[in-house]
Amino acid sequence: MIKKDLVIIGHGIGGSVLAQKALGRGLSVLVIDQNFELGSSWIAGGLLHPMVFKRLTLAWPGLEESMACLEYYQNLESAAWHPGPLVRRISTLDEAHRWEKSTMDPHLTTLLTILDEKVPKGISTSFGWGRVELGGWLDVPLFLTQNWQALEAKGLTLSYHLAAENLDSYSPILTIPKYEAIEYKHLVLATGISAPGWKVVPSLGEIPFYGVKGEILDLWLPELELETIVLGPLFLVPLEEQGMVRVGSTYEREYTDSQPSVTEAHKMLSQLGTFLPFLANWSKEELFARVRGHRAGIRPAARDRRPYLGPLGDNKAGAPPGTLVMNGLGARGCMVAPYAAELLLDFIQWGIPIPPELRCTPRRCSTVTSD
Ligand SMILES: Cc1cc2nc3c(=O)[nH]c(=O)nc-3n(C[C@H](O)[C@H](O)[C@H](O)COP(=O)(O)OP(=O)(O)OC[C@H]3O[C@@H](n4cnc5c(N)ncnc54)[C@H](O)[C@@H]3O)c2cc1C
Repeated sequence: MIKKDLVIIGHGIGGSVLAQKALGRGLSVLVIDQNFELGSSWIAGGLLHPMVFKRLTLAWPGLEESMACLEYYQNLESAAWHPGPLVRRISTLDEAHRWEKSTMDPHLTTLLTILDEKVPKGISTSFGWGRVELGGWLDVPLFLTQNWQALEAKGLTLSYHLAAENLDSYSPILTIPKYEAIEYKHLVLATGISAPGWKVVPSLGEIPFYGVKGEILDLWLPELELETIVLGPLFLVPLEEQGMVRVGSTYEREYTDSQPSVTEAHKMLSQLGTFLPFLANWSKEELFARVRGHRAGIRPAARDRRPYLGPLGDNKAGAPPGTLVMNGLGARGCMVAPYAAELLLDFIQWGIPIPPELRCTPRRCSTVTSD
């Protein structure tokens, strides 16, 4: 019988970061995933920054925690992490006032600046540009591939689609055909929402996650000479290959499938036309011909925009003892994952309670919670 402290189901950004951090703490780990290219993380734009731009305030979980998350990626010294400031288009007078106010706020003054110059070139703005000093982007597919390979080299992965019949509701033992039985102390369901069979434990379906479909385009646009990440109605990320730009992303609460759609691609391209004046005279076809990649995925979201972390709470019917959840990472999953992983591991190792706002409490799991 194989014995593990932690068996993690799902190697998206959540499961991947959790596995790395657990190993760093000396825990024994096994990661099971059918195919991590099916997850939402494989699609993600991978942008990281600590702001909510609508209100120009700090996003959850706060500045210190966000800095620790960014430091985590920085310390990996992986080619997947591209640190750097982000430039945000200021498009209304209201926004311009908010930027002026926020740059004088002692909590934000080192984080936000208003740019004097007309940068970035080739992109229209009505009220100038603001800059966020802390941020960057993560090449998530590269990050996941590197992590999986590192785990695989140590014999800590299993490519398998886990189903309810592999679990025993009464004992912490996994039985997988043609594989030795695995006894674990904790089983973490980091299954996202996009892959088939994500409700490994059917009661996971009682937690009110919802999916938000998103699409992303990779474009060949050397004319733009993009040097920094630009945020506007869409984000623009300069990719490693000269002239390639990643553009995203859409937010669809109502969707019928997880496939890239030509209609959404055209919507993004016409939005891009209003953002990049040099495209004004380009035909739809000319612009479409510049698409080199088009991906879609489903973000696992929660109404209160906080992940679900820890024991399944009242939703544990059919779940074996020691089952924990790490899901609902939302639109900022890459940013939130390192922090969520630390909290979960503190709970596992030291019994430190998970903050109530992240637990699967009956109140949070009630489907009548308002937006
Ligand atoms: C278009 C788009 C753009 C995004 N942009 C950003 C961004 O810029 N910045 C940011 O921070 N976040 C972004 N996100 C959000 C982020 O991607 C998600 O929060 C994150 O990917 C969720 O990660 P996860 O590990 O919880 O789930 P997933 O990535 O979905 O991973 C779950 C894994 O579990 C596996 N799995 C599921 N069921 C089983 C089973 N039964 N057996 C075995 N394996 C199983 C799946 O194969 C999958 O690999 C974006 C998402 C999308 C869709």
